[in-house]
Amino acid sequence: MSSTEGSAVADRVAEGPVTSGRLAVLLIAAVLAIGATATTLGDTWVIAFTQWPVGLVTAAAIVAPRRWWWAPLLSGGALGWWTMRLADVVPLAAVGFGVSVAAQALVASVVLRWGGPDRPRLRSQGDLARWLVGCTLGPVLGTAVLAGFVVAAGDPPRPAEAVVVVLAATFSHLLLVLPFVGFDRVTLFRTDTERWLQWAAVLAATGAVFTLQDQVAWAFALVPLLAWGALRLTLQDMIAQLLVVSVAALTIASFGIGPYSISVEARDAVADSTVLHLFLLSAVLLVVPYALVAQLLRERSAEAHRERELVGRIMNSATRTAIIGTDRDGRITLFNVGAELLLGYDARDMLGLTPATFVPRSELHAQAEAVGTAPEFHRIARALTKRSSEPRDWRMRRKSGEMRTHSLTITRMHDQRGEVVGYVCTSEDVTARVQRQDALLAALLTEREAVERLEQADRMKDALVSTVSHELRTPLTSVLGYATMLADGDFGDLSAPVAQTLDRIINNGERLRSLVEDLLVLSRVNAGQLDLASEPLDMRDVVRSAYDVVAPQVEGRDLDVRVDLPDGKALVDGDAGMLERVVLNLLTNALKFTRDGGQVDVSITLEAEEVVLEVSDTGLGIPVEEQDQLFTQFFRSSVAKREAIQGTGLGLSIAHAIIEQHGGVIGATSEPSIGSTFLVVLPGSAPARGNGSPEAPPRGTTNARGPRAPRVRAGVSNGTRTRICRRGSCSRASRDARSHPLARHSRPSVC
Ligand code: ADP
Repeated sequence: MSSTEGSAVADRVAEGPVTSGRLAVLLIAAVLAIGATATTLGDTWVIAFTQWPVGLVTAAAIVAPRRWWWAPLLSGGALGWWTMRLADVVPLAAVGFGVSVAAQALVASVVLRWGGPDRPRLRSQGDLARWLVGCTLGPVLGTAVLAGFVVAAGDPPRPAEAVVVVLAATFSHLLLVLPFVGFDRVTLFRTDTERWLQWAAVLAATGAVFTLQDQVAWAFALVPLLAWGALRLTLQDMIAQLLVVSVAALTIASFGIGPYSISVEARDAVADSTVLHLFLLSAVLLVVPYALVAQLLRERSAEAHRERELVGRIMNSATRTAIIGTDRDGRITLFNVGAELLLGYDARDMLGLTPATFVPRSELHAQAEAVGTAPEFHRIARALTKRSSEPRDWRMRRKSGEMRTHSLTITRMHDQRGEVVGYVCTSEDVTARVQRQDALLAALLTEREAVERLEQADRMKDALVSTVSHELRTPLTSVLGYATMLADGDFGDLSAPVAQTLDRIINNGERLRSLVEDLLVLSRVNAGQLDLASEPLDMRDVVRSAYDVVAPQVEGRDLDVRVDLPDGKALVDGDAGMLERVVLNLLTNALKFTRDGGQVDVSITLEAEEVVLEVSDTGLGIPVEEQDQLFTQFFRSSVAKREAIQGTGLGLSIAHAIIEQHGGVIGATSEPSIGSTFLVVLPGSAPARGNGSPEAPPRGTTNARGPRAPRVRAGVSNGTRTRICRRGSCSRASRDARSHPLARHSRPSVC
């Protein structure tokens, strides 16, 4: 259908199922007029037109409002009786005619309205069936009723007469109800030329064929003209033409003219009328269904056209999406505006080609290999759509030769039987995204390589530190050993300056050894090789042992050092040497960062299932903003640097690793210029959980001074006050430290 036709079809006006009492009255008036006129004009007119009022009564019945349905029947029946009486028909036969008219209208209108709206329609095959059945059944039954009356009146009808009555009644029903049913009025042509031409041809042919004497066969010349109209014109036109042709043919015949002339004297009027009615009936039965079906097809095709146009508009509005349709062999049938823009090709040039025009051969091979098929687009599409409809990236070449990446989804198109008739490919240009992803991947790769290099360098550094430290430890031990022997006078008395120099050598040597030890442990920590022993041990012994080591530092300083150990064993499972390293580090730091006149407290508390070690001081403290780095390697606080207090920044990180490996936690609280508290919480070993095992003699007794007991002297010695307290007998500072918030929690807040 051309676009002209399509837009004209859109001009259609659907007639609603309106009922009208006024129209019904008019129709009944027409019944009266035609009946009276025909009767007045004479027998030939009666023969030709006597059944027209019957059809009009039915027409009145279908247009009348439903509650007035009986009125056309009653008035039509009465008029039928009256007309027959006018024509001198015997009374009973006249009554029969009236009853027959009413019966026909009743049956036909019921069937026509069956299952539908008030006013019958002619818009579908169902409507057509109702029209045919109603307009046939009514006349047949009505004629049977009439025949019954005529027989009862003592004048049995001839079969030929009955046939022509049925034919004429059926014809009048089929034709005369048509203008009053609802149907679509479709304007097909923008110019009416064809319409007028067809009308002219039909009118001319009608005039000719019904007047040419003895040329019966010429009437068939009308058939192709009506068929042309049925195919090309509206149903409305065709109904009008049928009416015109019928009225003309019957009128001419009634005048006794033409091949179908009804002549009462010269011929058998019944036979003439039968032939004419058969012809007209055939014309109606040919034209109406044909015109209706043609109209339905036109409507469907117009609808399909509109839908296609809509789909086309939608597809072309997607300018950032390429939509490409192919047939089942991969030949392009659709190439939307988006595809034109994204690929640079003109849609007209692409129709009939395959996507290989813009998909490089290498890409086809890669895609085909991925799905295990031949490198042809339709085969790849078939294989892909069998699996999933997930989008895949395809490399495509623009007409300019530029390579782009499209995210492409292929879907199958099926016909009504489910057969694959083609494929629809929708794609978006994702080149920018792919480039970003590639760049990101490259950056990640570079970063991973850099990390690997760094890790390798780190491992090399650890290995170097470990090796160097190992190598340093042996000669250092020897140097320190000989220096100590010298200092102890094993090689004779020393002068004061030499003794002083030796002391410095030994001090610095010790610092160096401590550094080497730290580095060795650190390299083991970093290598994850801090293999610790796990033996039951008493943390009190660990503290005493550590204190023994720092005791010389305490001597000669004005510090109040208190060690508060419980009476019962503080048992943990662990590595005594490593735990001593931790305590030593905490103690050394407390002493280092506390000025003379200050106080250092060391205590062990036995909690339900834990052993808590606390080392607190009233020293310099750590700036708040630096505290979260406390346990990181090589951290030294700004205060330590400013005050030039020696250190490497390794001790706490090593302590952290050791405590963590013991399943414990280490934490600290500190206030600048007030002091710091370090807390170590270790899981107690089984006996410790029942804590306070009755072993320990009171502190400060022999046991406290046993082989591993700290060398602690009560009272003041060289300005340094150190003291071992019994539980509960310590100074307020020590008790305060124990009641520090950290000590009450098994997990310190900073660790
Ligand atoms: P080092 O003491 O050898 O520098 P550590 O790891 O033991 O290394 O300690 C790291 C840093 O933490 C110290 O340099 C110091 O700045 C701070 N610090 C540790 N303990 C204390 C403390 N008791 N009082 C003040 N600052 C401390």
